[in-house]
Amino acid sequence: MIQTNPLEILAKLIEMPSVTPDQAGTVDYIENIITHLGGIVERIDSGNTANLLATIGTGEETLAFAGHVDVVPSGNHDKWLNQNPFKLHQHGDNLVGRGVVDMKGAIAAFLSALISFTNNTPMDKYKIMLIITSDEEGPATDGTIKVVEKLQREGRHLDYCIIGEPTSSSIFGDTIKVGRRGSLTGELTVFGKQGHIAYPDLCINPIHKALPALSELSQLVWDNGNEHFPSTSLQFANLNSGLGVTNVIPGQLITNFNFRYNTIHNAEDLILKTETILKKHQLDYSITWKHSAKPFLTKVAGLVEVCKDAIEEICNITPDLKTDGGTSDGRFLIDVSNELVELGLLNTTAHQINETTTISDLTQLTEVYNRILCKIFNG
Ligand SMILES: [Zn+2]
Repeated sequence: MIQTNPLEILAKLIEMPSVTPDQAGTVDYIENIITHLGGIVERIDSGNTANLLATIGTGEETLAFAGHVDVVPSGNHDKWLNQNPFKLHQHGDNLVGRGVVDMKGAIAAFLSALISFTNNTPMDKYKIMLIITSDEEGPATDGTIKVVEKLQREGRHLDYCIIGEPTSSSIFGDTIKVGRRGSLTGELTVFGKQGHIAYPDLCINPIHKALPALSELSQLVWDNGNEHFPSTSLQFANLNSGLGVTNVIPGQLITNFNFRYNTIHNAEDLILKTETILKKHQLDYSITWKHSAKPFLTKVAGLVEVCKDAIEEICNITPDLKTDGGTSDGRFLIDVSNELVELGLLNTTAHQINETTTISDLTQLTEVYNRILCKIFNG
């Protein structure tokens, strides 16, 4: 027998301490449920990462649910309410445990919705896929991207894709993500010439050289955003120079900064603009760039409408369509998806000590997912 209730499934998933990239039995557990439902499971494990691609049903249109079983480390167990983040702790309506919102709760809700939907619908009416990885919170190099590459190689395409990331911000259902910003990091070294601080004419001070350029970069308005995206932001994250003494002009300054950018820009033009400013200030520098995500925006069409309607019917609120927050596996899945949304639980306690959801949110999310399946496949 398999568990069918979202609370029971969640309790099982929480008990398996799947800190990135260790699946700790979670992927096997999901595989067992899918097999029980008559689905086909492909495992695309890569390195230490477990990846599952499951297909249930033989219908024309494909809807995929994508998610990650991995969680961030729990931190000090003594600070958790029940001293054990890997055991689901229930008190009143609250459910506490590592991964309850990010995102084992959504996986449990979708599996439960999937079980009741498939039990009540002929197999040729639907084709539902599950894309599950154990490497989303880590480098994400062996995770969902490997499944996407396989789908691309085989010419398989998803009509609709729902990612179960926690997207709600103050009450469940208030937000659907319809895209995400891109992320680009620059690691900059500005070279000078080290020497005695009393003889600046014999030195080149990299701090003095760099500051006007860094100031200009930090003040620049890159754009004003657009209908779906906030404005592009550049933030300095680290700045180091000096030998820790007061009588030496240092030989170099090292800094790094990160762009979160919208669809008005691409990585190439941000790199070009940045380097133009560095050159204008005549810096002797080297820079390396790491582009970890391009921005994307889904086609705002059928799937977004279906999700909105389902939330309105079950939660009595109208969700906002947003693109803020960090990167997600949507950056990979958009390449094989006609439409893609992210819809999950509240994100306020994600990654925190005492990560919490509620039984009512979990129940509502299960109902929302079920309603979406019915609307997509039963018309
Ligand atoms: Zn997540």
